[in-house]
Amino acid sequence: MSNTIYNIQDIATIVAVTSVELSDPSAIINTLAYDSRKITDPKHALFFALSGRRDGHQYLQEAYRAGIRSFVVRKNAFDQADYPDSNWLYVQDTLQALQLLASHHRRQFEYPVIAITGSNGKTIVKEWLYQLLSPEYQIIRSPKSYNSQLGVPLSLWQMDGRHNLAIIEAGISQAGEMDSIEKMVKPTIGVLTNIGHAHDEGFASIQEKTLEKLKLFRDADKVIYNPSYVNTAIKVPGRYHFTWIVGEGALLEVIASRKEMEQQYVLEANYQQQSYVFTVPFTDKASIENLVCCWAVMLVLGYETAMVIDRMKDLLPISMRLELKKGINNNSIIDDSYSNDLSSLLIALDFLKQQQQHPHKMLILSDLPIGEQDKTKLYTKIAAMLKGKGIDRFIGVGKHLRQHAALFSMDARFFDTTEELLANITKLNIQHSTVLIKGGRVFGFENVSKALTLQTHETTLEINLNALEYNLNSYKSLLQQGTKLMVMVKAFSYGSGSFEIANLLQFNKVDYLTVAYADEGIALRKSGITLPIVVMSPGEDTFEQMIHYRLQPEIYSFAELDTFIHALSVIKTETYPIHIKVDTGMHRLGFELDQVGELLTKLKRTDKIIVKSVFSHLAASGSREHDDFTREQIRLFDVFTKDLAQGLGYHFIRHIANTSAISRFPQAQFDMVRLGIGLYGVSADAEHPLPLQSVTRLRTGVTQIKHIKAGETVGYNRNGRLPGEGTIATVKIGYADGYSRRFGNGVGKMLIKGELVPTVGDICMDMCMLDVTGMDVKEGEEVLVMGDELSPDSLAKAIGTIPYEILTSISQRVRRVYYFE
Ligand SMILES: *Cc1c(COP(=O)(O)O)cnc(C)c1O
Repeated sequence: MSNTIYNIQDIATIVAVTSVELSDPSAIINTLAYDSRKITDPKHALFFALSGRRDGHQYLQEAYRAGIRSFVVRKNAFDQADYPDSNWLYVQDTLQALQLLASHHRRQFEYPVIAITGSNGKTIVKEWLYQLLSPEYQIIRSPKSYNSQLGVPLSLWQMDGRHNLAIIEAGISQAGEMDSIEKMVKPTIGVLTNIGHAHDEGFASIQEKTLEKLKLFRDADKVIYNPSYVNTAIKVPGRYHFTWIVGEGALLEVIASRKEMEQQYVLEANYQQQSYVFTVPFTDKASIENLVCCWAVMLVLGYETAMVIDRMKDLLPISMRLELKKGINNNSIIDDSYSNDLSSLLIALDFLKQQQQHPHKMLILSDLPIGEQDKTKLYTKIAAMLKGKGIDRFIGVGKHLRQHAALFSMDARFFDTTEELLANITKLNIQHSTVLIKGGRVFGFENVSKALTLQTHETTLEINLNALEYNLNSYKSLLQQGTKLMVMVKAFSYGSGSFEIANLLQFNKVDYLTVAYADEGIALRKSGITLPIVVMSPGEDTFEQMIHYRLQPEIYSFAELDTFIHALSVIKTETYPIHIKVDTGMHRLGFELDQVGELLTKLKRTDKIIVKSVFSHLAASGSREHDDFTREQIRLFDVFTKDLAQGLGYHFIRHIANTSAISRFPQAQFDMVRLGIGLYGVSADAEHPLPLQSVTRLRTGVTQIKHIKAGETVGYNRNGRLPGEGTIATVKIGYADGYSRRFGNGVGKMLIKGELVPTVGDICMDMCMLDVTGMDVKEGEEVLVMGDELSPDSLAKAIGTIPYEILTSISQRVRRVYYFE
């Protein structure tokens, strides 16, 4: 996206290759790629096969297919013959090579580089500084929260000669990481936002963490920090220090703050013997600190306080994640209107490109806020980008876009204003599409989003796809080399969604997906899932459909085997894969152990099918008291499958381990494991819980607040009583949403404004009531029903069930919102 250009041979020198093979030594590189889903301008891209949680060498084929011909790789990590006409730079460590390149690139520029680090608030401070400084500076800043060992070099790569200020965010999660970041960034101005408890596990003490963060400023000219976060014993690097504080004891002090109106605080501040009183549009402590931090940076850059105060009044809140919401007319909506510039547009388009659930991809875009630069060049670039990302329908809003309408070759419509678009929106007939809505603040695109999003019911289940990926990798790390992975996506992926989850698993190259019923599998196929899918309860009447959609049945009885073979002979396919289930003690479905002989005879009599796998299910793999029984199941399975394999004369995949067995019975991995609940953030192993991240957050809102006199009752059957006079909040979730009636009368608790409050009275169908006596709660307040603080496990315990039931009970009418952080 930048004007950066390097010759491949120069890059070879910069990244310290061990050897090179160049088919095209004159290749020009201007884009760095590391993710085969996110490729733009492949002709000029250099692909780094990074070995992080997944090995980039596995994605070379996809990158090559996308048109990339230049690669930075480890030698012998793949078969080179598959990639004719390519350039290969061989290095020991591909990430380090990327960092060397970024570091070299950064040194080409003399303008100031502000580096921001700290436990929280980095991205907000960066985005606010961008808003505050944009009138004077041409700023390059890290996109979103690109602040890691990978994010930082990608951010630096965007620097070019058109800018005159860089703002780079740096995050670390363990000791030793800051050195490499410091070497790349070499900041001139350092900003420490705060020190909190994030990533405590990676450090021996808070002190060690602070010291590690401060390493970033080793050679900085000026360092800006809040002394309340830095122990006086610590020597802060930098030639000049500027301190700020909410309290007393710094150059810039905010000594008092009070709430004035609903969304405003009045701040009183001292700086250089002057006092200032002014209002800001934020009321929480974290935002105030971030604001003061930005103020300090502006003072260091030489701004007058009057101007700073004037600009802070207009600061806007920042939402940092891309959300996927259900839209009207069978659309999905990606709402991203927090900033509108090329790099954030590219990130959002990549997210859009990964969505396969609808046949069409559409972008609604406003004019980009640029000065008097060459607009034609900008919009030509954007038009080319859209083509590359598979956008088939485009709506442009704003005068500039309209002027450049001719550049957009797809189905495109243009409007001068957002109002004009809204007046015509139903006529546009937007359906079966994934729609990205991306507009600058002044365009007020939240109204476009409102018009296109389904808002029947405000209770929302948020699904964090990053956390899901994290959990997947936690389990992968427990697998022995070569063990395959089947993931259970039955019951709407344990309530978390269907194609959204399957899509992510497909990208992560799991080996199999498993659903309960054929229609679940068909829905996945229709939304673009190509992975092998196993159906556990196929049902005779669906065989034909299953074969049509290439779904593979679980076969658990002779009757089922016969009808399936019959269905195959009618349709005439090639040998069809099936999965045999054997009962080793669960006593639910499956062939009996002593049926192995008869099964062999039947299987050998037909050439219609091939046994792809044989499996069994453990009845109590999570509970220690039954471990002997589990070991016996494993032994029986081993014997049965050995006999069967010998009789059949060919190899099939053997699998028995579910989530808790993956961690508790490593000897039971066989050729494949079946991951279920663990993926969704519930560790089924109480003794050695894996460090999983919670994937789902269920939230709702307060509809009404009521004051209750002593002795009055609340809800059906007059079951709800408060100890005396009090206040209740009625919230929009009931048993029809999956919030069980068993949570009634104080058994269930929800979180409002950081406080756990109990239910009052019976849970109703669509609502329930909470005791908020003594709290300042308003209508519309957000209420957390399940999440970090209220885990599925703890909810389950409260009503005597298991987390599986809690997750899968959340009804389909509850809106699902998916996001990547
Ligand atoms: C649901 C299911 C699993 C997954 O179980 P978890 O405990 O969620 O890991 C594995 N195998 C079979 C046959 C299942 O039905």
